[in-house]
Amino acid sequence: MSNTLGFAAFDATSPLAPFRFDRREPGPNDVQFDVLFCGVCHSDLHTVRGEWAGTVYPCVAGHEIVGRVTKVGREVTGFAVGGLAAVGCMVDSCGGCPGCRAGLEQYCDRGDITWTYNSPDKHLPGQRTFGGYSSQIVVDQRFCLRVSERLSPAAVAPLLCAGITTYSPLRHWGVTAGKKVGVVGLGGLGHMGVKFAHAFGAHTVLFTTSPGKAEDARRLGADEVVLSKDANAMAAHAGSFDVILDTVAVPHDLDAYTSLLRRDGTLVLVGAPALPHPSPSAGSLIGKRRSIAGSLIGGIRETQEMLDFCEEKGIVSDVEVIPMQLIDEAYERMLRGDVKYRFVIDMASLK
Ligand code: NAP
Ligand code: ZN
Repeated sequence: MSNTLGFAAFDATSPLAPFRFDRREPGPNDVQFDVLFCGVCHSDLHTVRGEWAGTVYPCVAGHEIVGRVTKVGREVTGFAVGGLAAVGCMVDSCGGCPGCRAGLEQYCDRGDITWTYNSPDKHLPGQRTFGGYSSQIVVDQRFCLRVSERLSPAAVAPLLCAGITTYSPLRHWGVTAGKKVGVVGLGGLGHMGVKFAHAFGAHTVLFTTSPGKAEDARRLGADEVVLSKDANAMAAHAGSFDVILDTVAVPHDLDAYTSLLRRDGTLVLVGAPALPHPSPSAGSLIGKRRSIAGSLIGGIRETQEMLDFCEEKGIVSDVEVIPMQLIDEAYERMLRGDVKYRFVIDMASLK
């Protein structure tokens, strides 16, 4: 066992605080690495504040992790001591079901996924998994990702969740040149959605509640910016979108977006509010054979594909690096929509 320092939530309301726990010794297939940077996802906030059911305290969040390898098991290939390694939202899955065999571990048919934090730890019975708000982590090589030394590791970290969660649905729903794509919300996920939709060649429109983000949105790759509170501006886009990717973390009116889809268009929900959205109008869907869909992160194979694509295109997240001790302030700013556009914790601050 190796003693590890982390930063944990001890209940749903207190500030996060230092917490010591044990990680397993690396087995033959494990990669152990020192965490360099860990992104701050809105899912961390939902979890540590108990907004989704099932948080077990103490809870060490963090699932956008980039680090430097300190030890590898004898069966490990593709990772070496001193190199970079990364891990996202999952650290294990059943591996044998059709979903896992298809490289879609996040949709494991047996529901036997070990999330990077707040899951039962298969290796340490009775303990939960603890995430990247910590000095080091041990992960099975099947769930470790390779990242480029040529990109900033702090700016790469958010690709492990915000990146893949937007890349995967845009690929799945066939976003390419000639398509018109909307992204709702310019936060961690949304700004990556804008970058990817633009990189895939689509005509990209950002919907935002924040007038002050318009200039940034254009710089990030949006062709147009629409203030979602401006009914006339919304109406001007009625019936025109192939795909709209909704990243908003609070319940809101979905009809405002389904009505902007063309025939056979799809509104893809990736935002996961703690409470349900108001029920959408059936008429708006029926009238033009529109769909509302959802999407969960992406499988390991596709995550590596996305990281390789980002290396080739030089795509990274726009980050604000913070010390671990400012995490509660970062959560508050996230709730105000004041993130430009992902907080990333410099784990050197933990020591
Ligand atoms: P975030 O950085 O806080 O971004 C959310 C954005 O939503 C805000 O920046 C804001 O953008 C917009 N927004 C906030 N309040 C709003 C309101 N009242 N009405 C309309 N828009 C509002 O969060 P994130 O890390 O991107 O995560 C977003 C959601 O995705 C969370 O629920 C998270 O749990 C979920 N998530 C899902 C997956 C998945 O696999 N499906 C993966 C990761 C995260 P504007 O200022 O531009 O309006
Ligand atoms: Zn996340």
